[in-house]
Amino acid sequence: MPFTLRPLLILVSCLLLLWPVPGRAAALERVLLFLGQEHARVLVLLDGEVGEVQSRSMPAVGAAAARSVFTLEGASIDPKLVEAYRAIPGGVEIPVDNLGVRRLVLSQIGGDVQVAVDTMRARGVSTSLIGGRALLVDLLVPGAAPDQSLPDAAALQSWMRGVLNVTADVGPPRDRPRIVVDAGHGGHDPGAVGHAGTHESDIVLALARKVGAGLERELGAEVIYTRDDDTFIPLSGRAALANARDADIFLSIHANASVSPDVWGITTFYLDVASDAAAAAVAARENRAVVTAAGGAQDAADLVMGELVVSGTSALSRRLALEVHQSVIGQVTSTYGASRVHDIGVQTAMFYVLVSPRMPSILFEASFVTHPEDELRLRTPTFQNILADAIVRGVGSYLEVARDE
Ligand SMILES: [Zn+2]
Repeated sequence: MPFTLRPLLILVSCLLLLWPVPGRAAALERVLLFLGQEHARVLVLLDGEVGEVQSRSMPAVGAAAARSVFTLEGASIDPKLVEAYRAIPGGVEIPVDNLGVRRLVLSQIGGDVQVAVDTMRARGVSTSLIGGRALLVDLLVPGAAPDQSLPDAAALQSWMRGVLNVTADVGPPRDRPRIVVDAGHGGHDPGAVGHAGTHESDIVLALARKVGAGLERELGAEVIYTRDDDTFIPLSGRAALANARDADIFLSIHANASVSPDVWGITTFYLDVASDAAAAAVAARENRAVVTAAGGAQDAADLVMGELVVSGTSALSRRLALEVHQSVIGQVTSTYGASRVHDIGVQTAMFYVLVSPRMPSILFEASFVTHPEDELRLRTPTFQNILADAIVRGVGSYLEVARDE
């Protein structure tokens, strides 16, 4: 083969890659929702060019929510999104129930994707393209001022550059796994506070120490704590530490809270492992949005830049979450009996603290400090020991699986 042909072939194949394939619909890969007061911002990411977009808004009628709809012509829904969320006839539902937004519904209608956002009150809809492959949609209560705490288009663009260009390079865990154990809150931030006066920050510190000691003892892990005393650590610093130390696993430990004293149980969350680090520039904004979005009795530090809504799934974080969660539920059930365990399950959410770590990461919610029985049990060393042992066993199972793959 003449030596001049090779570069030409490469050039041609590059052109083919860059050339839009006619008739192929761009797939909707991610939907991110940023919540502010009376203002929600939806970022829709596709794997190709955004085509024509139509939008409209409908008022609430009777018990039916108000609905804002935008339609992406010539688009499809990435199957990973379908897997990740609740399937309903004709589409997928993403429940939100926060700050006036009830839910998102994604539907494939012929060759188009319709995104419907159900809200308590009708909202004006405006759309703009950012970066060709992303659509930014603002849903604003009429007369309300845009919420300045939400990330703006420039911030989102810099975040996307990071997320879309940086692929997480997750190798097998080390023989001596390096694990960052993150006790939530601390210092001037007590986290959730129970009726009996329990501070989440104290409970999770005690639990984190037990988990860390167990990981060292049982798994020979190298444990790094984000905090080992009652000090405040910014959310962005927690993931940054895990990244700087190139940890194999990031475990964030929290206790949950609800405005209702009846809500109780155990949950494990995970997020996309490929979430970016280069998004540091956006972090400050997100942090402000966290405070705005959370407000009131909610656990500010547990919420992200608004609530959630992630891409498909991160297989490794999901696996880690499942192993830990199953181990905990199994152990707590066998100790206390099924009637004293409420298994909320493994869930995904866009927790701020899970946005940037570049390794499999989970956020464990040990129970509700706002539930009287959960609160009292959380304070007992017995319960903390059971949780810690079960978390360690779950991590051990995960490591076995991850090493085999
Ligand atoms: Zn918390």
